[in-house]
Amino acid sequence: MEKQKLITIIVPCYNEQESLPIFYKEITKVLKNADYDYELVFVNDGSKDKTLGILKEISQTDKHVYYLSFSRNFGKEAAMYAGFCNAHGDFVAVMDADMQDPPALLPQMLEILQTGEYDSVATRRVNREGEPPVRSWFSRKFYHIINKISDADIVDGARDFRLMKREMVDAIVSMSEYNRFSKGIFGWIGFRTYWLPYENIERVAGETKWSFWKLFKYAMDGIINFSQVPLSVASWFGIIMTFCSFILLLFIIVRKLVFGDPVAGWASTVCVVIFIGGIQLFCLGIMGQYIAKTYMETKKRPHYILLESNMEDAKYIR
Ligand code: UDP
Ligand code: MG
Repeated sequence: MEKQKLITIIVPCYNEQESLPIFYKEITKVLKNADYDYELVFVNDGSKDKTLGILKEISQTDKHVYYLSFSRNFGKEAAMYAGFCNAHGDFVAVMDADMQDPPALLPQMLEILQTGEYDSVATRRVNREGEPPVRSWFSRKFYHIINKISDADIVDGARDFRLMKREMVDAIVSMSEYNRFSKGIFGWIGFRTYWLPYENIERVAGETKWSFWKLFKYAMDGIINFSQVPLSVASWFGIIMTFCSFILLLFIIVRKLVFGDPVAGWASTVCVVIFIGGIQLFCLGIMGQYIAKTYMETKKRPHYILLESNMEDAKYIR
């Protein structure tokens, strides 16, 4: 008889004491009815509430439950990476603990993977109900821009919630960059992906960890990690400015020859100097961003540090 396939569900958790019990109940209900064996890998990302306590409690009564607990808050990207590095499954899914990634979609996702036509099933929100309009506008712009300037194919409204085959997980783990942007990584590695649209759902309890500023920084990280286009901005400015100054030079020579040289125009000179100074600082800033990323990459710091886990073969530092 063929060995039963194993599904791993990775759940990054940061201060999720209210949502966790609800999520655990729902996901267990769904997975119990699937024809697969399963494991739940909860990653406690340095929560300051009772998240770890709850995880320990359920892992004692349920042998399907594993927890990996970080030494501090490393962020959702690190938590997902820790999950990928420690997952045993033939199929692996990432899910939020707040029920915004509905467990009820899993059976359908498994069915699609079973056909063998796809390597992963990813989910996409078709609406942004319950989100401030300004935020939606910026998100849409972000997806538009990043798809124009990078070779990672990033779908608008894509969630991190996706079910994938082992091969894909191995590819993700092999991308060990320090500055992680999973939406870009998923797109970059390729594979055949089926997109499953669904209506946005608001989180069941607790509150989002993403302020507008955090999201903005996340978007900038995405662009810098997956595109070199901003770096060429400086060269383009350089070319355009050279061209403009050439035209201006011609204009000044002609004016001098025709009208003589009345001393005037110091205000415009100052404007030009400030303008060019601004552009130079702007370009330097862009370069600085890339250098900062390179600096962090060269340090080769671990993505996460575990303090404790109930998984026998857990990788404590990676
Ligand atoms: N999360 C995490 N570390 C963090 C922030 C968030 O592990 O530093 C987890 C969080 O517990 C949740 C998921 O990432 O399971 C998504 O977070 P959230 O619901 O706040 O994001 P949103 O759904 O609003 O984008
Ligand atoms: Mg959420």
